[in-house]
Amino acid sequence: MNDCVFCLILAKKIPTTFIAENDFCFVIKDITPKATIHYLIIPKKHITNVAFFTPDDKEIAGALVMMAQQLSEKDTQHKEFRLIANSGKSAGQSVFHTHFHFLAGREFGDLV
Ligand code: AMP
Repeated sequence: MNDCVFCLILAKKIPTTFIAENDFCFVIKDITPKATIHYLIIPKKHITNVAFFTPDDKEIAGALVMMAQQLSEKDTQHKEFRLIANSGKSAGQSVFHTHFHFLAGREFGDLV
């Protein structure tokens, strides 16, 4: 999508810090980190949020979770992390291209 910041990053039209990539998704550093490690795991296919996945997107959904697991093995202590997908405006989503926040490197409290 032309005006989607994550599609523009994938097309290399906006600079970013790339962390990882595979056929289905890519990982960048969040521009306003909320923890020592704050990555965004983003599907290459533009899907608005998790609520818009279809059965055809199962492989992508799996790839996002498996990428989180790989990041935890590489970049965290004890494979502990928080994974968040804000889905919809009222849930706090501000970029309407699916992404999982991968957060680690500090203690987290209650979610809300
Ligand atoms: P959300 O509010 O859950 O939709 O999360 C969107 C996230 O994207 C926020 O944490 C932003 O800091 C992050 N973000 C927005 N623009 C960029 C960018 N150009 N590079 C990296 N992260 C970004």
